[in-house]
Amino acid sequence: MLDTDPLQRHNGHVAPDGSSEGPTAFTRNGHRPVLVLNQNYEPLHVATVRRALVLWLSGKAEILETYDQDVATAQRRFPAPSVIRLHTLVKRPPVRVRLTRREVFLRDDFTCQYCGVRTHDLTIDHVVPRSRGGPHTWENVVSACRACNHRKGGKSLAEARMQLLRQPFEPRPGRYYHVQRLLRTPVHESWRKFLPDLDATGRRSR
Ligand SMILES: [Zn+2]
Repeated sequence: MLDTDPLQRHNGHVAPDGSSEGPTAFTRNGHRPVLVLNQNYEPLHVATVRRALVLWLSGKAEILETYDQDVATAQRRFPAPSVIRLHTLVKRPPVRVRLTRREVFLRDDFTCQYCGVRTHDLTIDHVVPRSRGGPHTWENVVSACRACNHRKGGKSLAEARMQLLRQPFEPRPGRYYHVQRLLRTPVHESWRKFLPDLDATGRRSR
């Protein structure tokens, strides 16, 4: 589930979750993800069907696409939205790429930053070794093949007589980084036209 909600956090004019006039009962498809587009059609967020309906019922959003199932509430049935668009432009909070092994490998294009070999058998190397107080930051971690990682060990670049292909940096999030991070499932067909250039596997491409 979502742990943060930028709509709510950054915007006073979006209805709070679970408002009293909202639907009260849900089928299991109440948990399907809904793509939330900004007023300018930019993908902004992934919400629950329940929250999307609250936004729609309170006049904050329009429904662009629906799933082919209904959501039953105590009063009536609604088509379950799959894509909604906000009526007002929401300022998007800055998104930073999380420092994970996979994201480091993606940044480095699965290339050892010492010898340049391209492989999926990579390790994370701290340029200034952890044992010497090197921080675990984007600027101090690189992808290294096993051979290079072994060769460098706990040494500095100078001591190991090794060079970096390029200076490590914090990557900018891809266009759909935030939306994809919130998804556990592949992107629904009805979302595709709102996510141009998303590759077929649903993985972010660079
Ligand atoms: Zn290498």
